[in-house]
Amino acid sequence: MRVYSRALREPREAFMNIILLGPPGAGKGTQAQYMCETFGFRQVSTGDMLREAIAAGTELGEQVESILSAGDLVPDDVIIRLVLELVKASTTGHLFDGVPRTVAQAEGLREGGVPINLVLEFTLPDQLVVERLGGRRVHPGSGRVYHLQHRPPRSAGVDDVTGEPIVQRPDDREDTVRARLSVYREQTMPLIDYYERAAADGLVRYVRISADDNFAAIREQVESVVRD
Ligand code: AMP
Repeated sequence: MRVYSRALREPREAFMNIILLGPPGAGKGTQAQYMCETFGFRQVSTGDMLREAIAAGTELGEQVESILSAGDLVPDDVIIRLVLELVKASTTGHLFDGVPRTVAQAEGLREGGVPINLVLEFTLPDQLVVERLGGRRVHPGSGRVYHLQHRPPRSAGVDDVTGEPIVQRPDDREDTVRARLSVYREQTMPLIDYYERAAADGLVRYVRISADDNFAAIREQVESVVRD
């Protein structure tokens, strides 16, 4: 495995960049939304960016549509380019939600000069992942996330802010969720080792949080880690 360079320790700018790691359905997007509102981070959700491209019918959208519906990963070079373009144009700290998803993507961020200060890993057993994603609904326009049982919208079926319909993502159906879980195990879990080693070398902070708790309890833990 390639080694996490010491150069990462010296951020180009004094902004905090945080990676949220964890299986689909662990609540990364929900916590990211809250943390961005509270701390002013910019949320970098490659999943949202890809879904927007699909909805807008761009060339990128056409290229990735079948990959997303199968629950597979979009090629690393496409993702790295997307993220670096966004970060380059940005003037705040970032919250990386769903990216990097492979060691190659982590290396792409490193080589692109994106310093990472903190990695927050959310853990959740597979059975809970399947249950949670089955009840998840999203507002396509904003990416706002709801859950039929745990975080229902104020009025059934519609987004709290815009009143527009909320929908189930096609890749939240059970067979695709199982495929995404095995992709997570095979391609993304090596990042745990990658960043834990970086943490052991003092290059990044690594904190693990159980996602098997309610939103507010997890939010409190996340907040205290970020403020620490
Ligand atoms: P998410 O919303 O993060 O669960 O992402 C939804 C889907 O978009 C994934 O199942 C992948 O098909 C694709 N995707 C999102 N982020 C990445 C990434 N960093 N690398 C590769 N594929 C991604």
